[in-house]
Amino acid sequence: MLKHPVLIAGAGPVGFTTALLLARRGIPFVLFEGGDKIFDDPRAGTIHPPTLELFEESGVTEAMMAQGFIVNNYHYRDRKAGLIADFDLGVLADQTRYPFRLMLEQHRICYILRDILLKEYPSNPILMRHRVMKVEQDADGVSVTVQSDEGERVWRGSFMVGCDGGRSQVRKSMNVKFDGFTYPERFLVLSTRYDFAQHGYAITNYIADPEEWCALFKVPGHDGKGMWRVVFPAPPDASQEQLFDEASVQARIQGFNPKDGAYEMYHRNLYDVHQRVASSYRDGRLLVAGDAAHINNPLGGMGMNFGLHDSFNLVDKLSRIILEGASEDLLDVYDRQRRTVAQEFLQRQTIENKRNIEQKDPVEREKFYNELRGIVADRDKLHAYLMRVAMIEGFRRAQSIN
Ligand SMILES: Cc1cc2nc3c(=O)[nH]c(=O)nc-3n(C[C@H](O)[C@H](O)[C@H](O)COP(=O)(O)OP(=O)(O)OC[C@H]3O[C@@H](n4cnc5c(N)ncnc54)[C@H](O)[C@@H]3O)c2cc1C
Repeated sequence: MLKHPVLIAGAGPVGFTTALLLARRGIPFVLFEGGDKIFDDPRAGTIHPPTLELFEESGVTEAMMAQGFIVNNYHYRDRKAGLIADFDLGVLADQTRYPFRLMLEQHRICYILRDILLKEYPSNPILMRHRVMKVEQDADGVSVTVQSDEGERVWRGSFMVGCDGGRSQVRKSMNVKFDGFTYPERFLVLSTRYDFAQHGYAITNYIADPEEWCALFKVPGHDGKGMWRVVFPAPPDASQEQLFDEASVQARIQGFNPKDGAYEMYHRNLYDVHQRVASSYRDGRLLVAGDAAHINNPLGGMGMNFGLHDSFNLVDKLSRIILEGASEDLLDVYDRQRRTVAQEFLQRQTIENKRNIEQKDPVEREKFYNELRGIVADRDKLHAYLMRVAMIEGFRRAQSIN
């Protein structure tokens, strides 16, 4: 058994999942979170079938299903021409018990995970306002310097899992690169209660346009009754102040869907957008998962799901090492399996999603629309396409890598 607990940096969805999966196997952990609360800004809202299957055993899926909205079909649209393709996720019923997307905000997933941990495993520390500052390792463990209100303390662990997001301190302590690129534009996320369904929109919509594409979807919101998020590209030269200005927000959203009277806005958030993958997910006893290992644009709703899949894969390997004495080389398998699919699926698909939704060349755009029309008109093609975008193919591909 372990001399020291597994240390985890970051109480986001991936850190909490890693903690719960370790706890379920009786492996002690300490979870450090730099912030003083779970972040509730509007980020991930889409959960794909493999994630719902993975969480089934731990009871998390049931809790998520009780709170989220089911998306049986989603729309691809052109901002001027309207509906291009209506994707029926039901065709995946022969492959998954969850042939749909579930809309639920990532902070609600964190609350579910945290509540199970606090109730069922109260002896494992979840330490808020504890920031990982420095990470070192030696032959039989890791030493992690953590800053809290009480000052700095060095914690000893058997392994360190960095779930500390895109700017990961754990990754920076590893001998790895984080190559890729950052888009010049940012993504502006606006939230309103206005019900776009009355105009024929589905719960999830991707709306292509050469000037100003947008993504429109509905999540439960603070009271579970529904909040619509509208995502627009934000020009690189505009300041946050200009983009958040009430008149500019109203003009943007009225430009998309004109209506009488002003929209009542709940959130305005601005995100930098990157495409990067760590050159290795392992350096000895130091590991990364989730955004610490890979970041991508949010079109397709894949980043968090992918990070959660990392966590399931990694904890499976860690527990075989810790509980069954398996070789630590298994951690290289984690790296190979998950990093390969981050490149082959996550990066490829999200880069393609962005290129298609903003396509400026009318010939290329029409070619893409015809491709989509062809996919929805042919059940086999639709099945094959949705296997990829519903993340089933990538998940299975990872499992097949040695
Ligand atoms: C607009 C938008 C929409 C998105 N939509 C989707 C979607 O629909 N579906 C999807 O799958 N993904 C989506 N994503 C991506 C998703 O939000 C991320 O992939 C997800 O947050 C990654 O989770 P994580 O736990 O790896 O990292 P994070 O959520 O970033 O959590 C990292 C945690 O680590 C903490 N931390 C950082 N440094 C330290 C430190 N040194 N010490 C201690 N703690 C530290 C942070 O405070 C934070 O709490 C979206 C992203 C954006 C911006």
